[in-house]
Amino acid sequence: MVGKQKYQAGDQTLLRQINLSAILNHIRIETPISRAVLAERTGLNKATISNLVNELIDKKFVKELGVKNSGIGRPSSLLVLNPEAGFILSSEIGVDFISVIGTDFSPKILFEVTRKIEPNLDPAIVIEMLISILKKAQNKCTKSVGNNFLGLALGVPGLVDFESGCLLFAPNLQWKDIPLKRILSSEFDAPIFVDNEANLATLGEYFFGNALLYDDVLYLSVGVGLGGGMLREGQLLRGVGGMAGEFGHMTADPNGEICGCGNRGCWETQASQKVLFKYVHEALAKGETSILQESCGHNLDLLNTDLIIDAAKRNDRVALESLKKVGRHLGIGISSLINALNPGIIVLGGILSSAWEILEPEINQELTNRALYWNRESTKVVLGKNGLKSCVMGGIATVYQMILSEPHNNSHIFDNK
Ligand SMILES: [Zn+2]
Repeated sequence: MVGKQKYQAGDQTLLRQINLSAILNHIRIETPISRAVLAERTGLNKATISNLVNELIDKKFVKELGVKNSGIGRPSSLLVLNPEAGFILSSEIGVDFISVIGTDFSPKILFEVTRKIEPNLDPAIVIEMLISILKKAQNKCTKSVGNNFLGLALGVPGLVDFESGCLLFAPNLQWKDIPLKRILSSEFDAPIFVDNEANLATLGEYFFGNALLYDDVLYLSVGVGLGGGMLREGQLLRGVGGMAGEFGHMTADPNGEICGCGNRGCWETQASQKVLFKYVHEALAKGETSILQESCGHNLDLLNTDLIIDAAKRNDRVALESLKKVGRHLGIGISSLINALNPGIIVLGGILSSAWEILEPEINQELTNRALYWNRESTKVVLGKNGLKSCVMGGIATVYQMILSEPHNNSHIFDNK
């Protein structure tokens, strides 16, 4: 009998947790929202909604915005996530930059800095710079919403052991075995998450971007390299070793170029910023002319993606053809992913996604040529919404996911208020 009672008690707690989570998520997605609409969306009765919403207001997760008079029946008060619940910091280390944002719980951005850094700096120097910017962000956010530090996230372009928060290997940084979570834990007193930048960006598009209404999402980040992340029923697919999503390192050409990972002919060697630059160099070496020669002061070491996209938009043949070639290789790989995984939506991010208008027709042409009709028809391919903030917004989303999935367990973070 004791066992049964224990089971029933646990069951009730679990049910309450699930319902609180459902309510918080609906408030997040459809903000501001009334209790009546919440009841409709969740299928819970009005008394239960009222009871659970009161708990969320008590815990400072939710606040009432005011009264909405629809003209029919009693005026209803609208609910939003409470910005003053606390603040979240999120950061990204890229090959040549550090980005940090700080938001309140709504999540309105309170602090935002991107600092260019020299590539190939010593990891200790980069981490020190990151910590210094994060401290500034913490100060700014504390002044705005008080000292409830809800969580800190860091995205890096490499393989991460999510549990320990150790960066195992970042091919484009050439960093190995850096215990990032442990280092940050000695500086900041909050839940800390270190993850692959594309995993974070995937969550970012799911929580705050163009994948908002999809639970099966594949995200591709086309930048210096080609990273990816996948959500299955709203949860990141990590694989048994925690390393899933390395789509860029699928072999696309067994005789292709050597990749940063050491293998030959990875998809990344055909569809990334690196190969875009290579195509431009090759065309110019063949004697083609381009406005890029002038726009980078006849020093091709100064070539960057923005210059190429700008030139392509001005119909520069070298820039346009180079981007189109990358687009075709992206389309070929995406066709295989659609055939294999058939997600609800594929979202394209990373710096090359700024060339979406040029890439999209090439991708679509390859999908028409190569993807199975039924798979293609049921999978949308779209541009990401978060742009260059995709990873840092994903960090905010990671902290959100922790709180929103278990609001009851995470209410301790408000106990010191
Ligand atoms: Zn590779």
